[in-house]
Amino acid sequence: MSTPVRQVPYVDIAGQHVAIKEELLEAIDTVITLGQFILGEEVERFERDFAKLCGVRFAVGVNSGTDALVLALRALGVGDGEGDEVITAPNSFVASAGSIGLAGARPVFVDVGEDYNIDPGRIAEAITPSTKAIMPVHLTGRPAAMDEIVEIAREFGLLVIEDCAQAVMAEYRGRRAGSLGHVGCFSFHPLKTLNACGDGGVVTTDDENLYEKLRVMRNLGLRTRDECVTWSTNSRLDALQAAVLLVKLKYLGRWTAKRRANAAYYQAELGSLEEVVVPIDALHERAVYHTFVIQAERRDELRAHLKRRGVGTAVHYPVPIHLQPAAAELGNPPGSFPVTEHQVTRIVSLPVYPELQSSQLEQVVGAVHEFYRT
Ligand SMILES: *Cc1c(COP(=O)(O)O)cnc(C)c1O
Repeated sequence: MSTPVRQVPYVDIAGQHVAIKEELLEAIDTVITLGQFILGEEVERFERDFAKLCGVRFAVGVNSGTDALVLALRALGVGDGEGDEVITAPNSFVASAGSIGLAGARPVFVDVGEDYNIDPGRIAEAITPSTKAIMPVHLTGRPAAMDEIVEIAREFGLLVIEDCAQAVMAEYRGRRAGSLGHVGCFSFHPLKTLNACGDGGVVTTDDENLYEKLRVMRNLGLRTRDECVTWSTNSRLDALQAAVLLVKLKYLGRWTAKRRANAAYYQAELGSLEEVVVPIDALHERAVYHTFVIQAERRDELRAHLKRRGVGTAVHYPVPIHLQPAAAELGNPPGSFPVTEHQVTRIVSLPVYPELQSSQLEQVVGAVHEFYRT
């Protein structure tokens, strides 16, 4: 009888909650007992704590990361002008460009570098008189080249909207993601490093005017209970989710350290393989490894081999945004962004979540080595 292969699933959302389930249920119980489901104390407490975590003055809880991006763009007036353009990366999750379209502006893509983030050296040539903002994405949890990006934005008078959906607690020259541009947008989708039991998001800023605007805009344009100053959507962070997030915030530092330790293990064990490129964060960066993305020779065969060895993997993301049907009208045919299009054939994400046991990490590494040895 053969022993079954031990599984290393790519993600393990249920696993994250085992150790903290009692605490979560208690927090949820409190909200239900008080009956304060919409805004109120839990949401405000979370917003204060999250702003502090990011090193900014203000945070506004919203319904999702996508809403965080759309509301930030709208609150900054991006999309108000005919033909407004926003520069962003084509290798992100679709919501980055999608939110620009939803705000009434046009996404303009700029290719990425080896760090999977927008290449600052190519931004200037993409700027036109219609450019309003740059939206760097801190993809994989690694900060984009913010010094260069902020400098270009200053020179051309552009706004900087950080897509921080994958980058809670990521640092760039000692400062946290969400504090580096005019506004930071985060997601608490269950697959993010700080996650709700459902959808959620938050916007961070140091700008008090913007903060007041965002509070009105997430709540139907209501300045007070009975005064509506602008038509807007309903995009509030649920008090239940805020209560969940407040519990998880206490563990986030430890979880993030474990992610980084897992990444360091992979870097040490896979870095010498000729067929593989592992990510290494630069000295002035502190990546949080939302995903651990390697580039691999014979990527699809490697994935199939890992699957046979019980190791789940994923590809983030298999179709670049500019090649999505939704982006067809933007007119970027295949070949427009060669780095992105080259990487997309080679990238694969390995499991990196904090609950991984060392035996599981060894299993992943062993299976990768086995593939290239044979
Ligand atoms: C997840 C994600 C979003 C969208 O967040 P949701 O909460 O799912 O709406 C936006 N940008 C990036 C880079 C993401 O990873």
